[in-house]
Order: sequence, then C-alpha cells, then structure tokens
Amino acid sequence: MVDAILNLVFPQSCVVCSSRILQRRWSVACPDCWAKLEPVPRPFCPQCGMPAPVIEGPCGPCRRGDHAFDFARSLFLFTDPMRAILHHFKYSGRVSLARPLGRQLREHLKEEGFRGCMALPVPLHRARLRERGFNQAELLAQQLGLEVDRSLLRRRKNTPSQTGLSRSQRALNLSAAFEVRRTPPDCVIVVDDVYTTGATLHEIAKTLKRSGTSRVEVLTVARVLRQE
Ligand SMILES: [Zn+2]
Ligand SMILES: [Zn+2]
Repeated sequence: MVDAILNLVFPQSCVVCSSRILQRRWSVACPDCWAKLEPVPRPFCPQCGMPAPVIEGPCGPCRRGDHAFDFARSLFLFTDPMRAILHHFKYSGRVSLARPLGRQLREHLKEEGFRGCMALPVPLHRARLRERGFNQAELLAQQLGLEVDRSLLRRRKNTPSQTGLSRSQRALNLSAAFEVRRTPPDCVIVVDDVYTTGATLHEIAKTLKRSGTSRVEVLTVARVLRQE
C-alpha cells in the first residue's frame, strides 16, 4: 500500500535498464536486473575467494603473501548490472540500496562459514566522507546483524584509486594508510562494496594483525576478476 502510493508520487525507474520499478523493496534496480547478477563462480581460492579454472590450495598471490587476510568472499562478479548498481549506491546517495544488498550479504556470511563477530567497514578518508556524506561500506556493515565498530579503523591517507597501478606502486601508496585506534578483537570481518586488487584489504589486515587480531575475514558485495 505504502509502496503503491510512493510509486504514484515518485515513480522510479531501474538504474540499469530504465524500466519502471513497481515495488520499493527492489530499491534502484528492477527484479530482472537483480536476477542478472552473476554469483562468483566456483572453484575459487580457499583463502582469497578469487575464481580460478582449476585450483588446489591457495592461489599464487595468497602463497606469495600478498593477502594478509585469512578469508575473503564476495557475492557477485563486478560485471554489469552490478557495476551500475554499485555506482549508484556510491555516488547517488542511494542509502536504501543497503537493504537488499545487506540481506544477501547476511545469508552469504552463514553459507560461507564466517567466524568473526565484529564488522569493520573499510573507512573513507574524512575528506572523502565529507564530500560523499556517507560511507557505503558502513551502510553495508550495518545490515549484517553483527556488532559494527565504525571508528576502530581510521584512514590516515586519502589514497587515490589503486586501479591501474603496479603492485609496488600500490604498496607504496597504501603504506601506513590505516591505523587501528584501540585494541581490536581477535577475529573481525572487514566489509566493503568491491574487492578490486585486494591491496587495500591486505594493508588493513596487516595493520589489524600488528595490533593483535589473529583472524581477518573480508566480505564484499562484488569482485573484480584478476587480470593475469
Ligand atoms: Zn532493470
Ligand atoms: Zn588466493
């Protein structure tokens, strides 16, 4: 009923295909576009969750020590329409989108056997937060039904996008980018919207482990496939 009235007053169209959205619970995309999202295919690396055609044990980067986190999983591949949905989430202040995504993240936590009992959103630098008005990772973390600590991690550097940089450039960019402000719990779940190169999450995991956390798990909505 409320949906019907809201739709009359503010008709909404899908951010991906522009068709009309009849039910508000679908948020910014229509049911057809939600159904087109591609779950991360198996098999994948047991540690970082990166899909690989054939895999036995951890993948190359995990074995090389590029991933200080112990466990990372994502819901969907970062392909269209996921890209359009997350872009909207990030830049158009579509706070309501956290709910349908959060619902699926919550299920994923159970299915994949996450053990952490505190969610830590990947922090934005305060300049970025001021500009955007909200932290999308925090909105997602709040949907998990776990305790959320939004101030334990702090971003000290406003790092540019890590995409397109070499491994060593990324490492240099990110070194000392984060700080842990209190003693962290023993096992945590770091939450973000997209797993891109894993470099930021690696840096966060290193920082947490230096402060005493023994297990760092990572949960993201989407995953960019590795370009080898
Ligand atoms: Zn659509
Ligand atoms: Zn791996």
